[in-house]
Amino acid sequence: MGIRLFNSYSRQLESFEPIQTGSNQVKMYTCGPTVYNYAHIGNFRAYIFEDLLQRHLEARGFQVERVMNLTDVDDKTIRDSRRSGRRLADFTQVYKDAFFTDIDTLRIKRASHYPAATEDRYIARMISMIEQLESQGMAYQAEDGSVYFRLSTFPEYGRLAHLNLEELRPSGRVSSDEYEKENVGDFALWKAWDANDGDVWWNSPWGKGRPGWHIECSAMATALLGPELDIHCGGVDNIFPHHEAEIAQSECCTGRKFVRYWLHCAHLMVEGQKMSKSLGNFYTLRDLLEKGFTGREIRFALITVNYRLPCNFTLGGIESARAALSRIDEWTQRLEAHAHACPPQPTPLSSHVDAFFDALDDDLNVSGAMGHLFDLIRESNRALDGETLSAGQAAHIIEGWRRINQVLVFDRDASVIPAEVEALVQERQRAREAKNWPESDQIRNRLAELGWNVKDSKDGQKLTPR
Ligand code: AMP
Ligand code: ZN
Repeated sequence: MGIRLFNSYSRQLESFEPIQTGSNQVKMYTCGPTVYNYAHIGNFRAYIFEDLLQRHLEARGFQVERVMNLTDVDDKTIRDSRRSGRRLADFTQVYKDAFFTDIDTLRIKRASHYPAATEDRYIARMISMIEQLESQGMAYQAEDGSVYFRLSTFPEYGRLAHLNLEELRPSGRVSSDEYEKENVGDFALWKAWDANDGDVWWNSPWGKGRPGWHIECSAMATALLGPELDIHCGGVDNIFPHHEAEIAQSECCTGRKFVRYWLHCAHLMVEGQKMSKSLGNFYTLRDLLEKGFTGREIRFALITVNYRLPCNFTLGGIESARAALSRIDEWTQRLEAHAHACPPQPTPLSSHVDAFFDALDDDLNVSGAMGHLFDLIRESNRALDGETLSAGQAAHIIEGWRRINQVLVFDRDASVIPAEVEALVQERQRAREAKNWPESDQIRNRLAELGWNVKDSKDGQKLTPR
């Protein structure tokens, strides 16, 4: 049946076909973090949904080239770097580094490119795009020195958000600082320097200034992926005005349809409100790690809620994730112990593996997919209890699990060693000290059954997950 995705642009489920017909190449752009603080786990909900999408596309044979931008110049980065008394680049570097550590902790696959807005080549591209828009009459410099996009020249504006452009136009004069603009909806492409910007500015045909946030994404996306993207993602708060603006700028510059599929995840909520920095109701990943949760537990909690449903964040939710993961761990250990490295032999139980991927084909229905995984776990555990599962069949199920785990990435943490395993290692240590080699080997086999390899070195035993 193929993959179907809900396109925010059409508000319909659509069959996924890459723009290049017959090709398996997918170009995907994902709006990245504004690096003025540690990302909160609401942001990571968006990045984990994008990770699930990429990994599922890859599981289905597509090759995904993904770009995630780093917004390292905007009002907030400038404001907070000045407050901290550091240069913008030094200030944002701290949060860029933290971001990469965090995505590794959450096992999010690295994108192919992480362009930063302040890189010379992108600033140059933003300026040339704005020049082009101006020469086409689609941008103008206002009295305040800033350059704005002239919305009246792009009637499609509002289609993604399903807004009526007329409703965006105020009838009378609105008392707003921004009233040098021709129209309230006109958004800034280039912001003229003012004293609050300090030493953050670039030269441009319109004088000293800096780019607007929206043009950053248009420039970086088209520079790296070309004029047409297969998929563009973000959280729902990005739809308006950010993604509308990206469409307007990009399409007016390239003359091509910018994006084929727009995908947006719903918010991570806390007590009925969006988790956000401005509301102060957020947890960073670090906050949760300090509470003793692991990256994979947080990944589980964030990835297993369907991306278009709001996800209510609770600490209890991560505790349930912990319980579910130990169930998976026990199951894989049991299967491994039973399979004894036998060659795989088909079993009807493996149909649950196909069902897992079929559910993901259906607009990433991950809760349906997890239902099939837990059916597989329950039924194969029952077959193990009843001694009706052969070693080869167990090996077949393990193969299926490995495929599933390419998408979920729920491997056991090497750093978290179960108490039972720890006790066996100590027992083995005593056996070795007593030179009881047969017992030492027996314990090694038992550890292997539990999914751990043990190596002896002069510093003692070294344990690694199998
Ligand atoms: P920002 O750093 O605010 O530009 O956000 C980076 C990404 O995180 C964007 O794709 C946002 O849509 C997304 N995002 C922000 N807050 C949340 C939230 N509470 N739940 C889900 N996604 C979010
Ligand atoms: Zn963006």
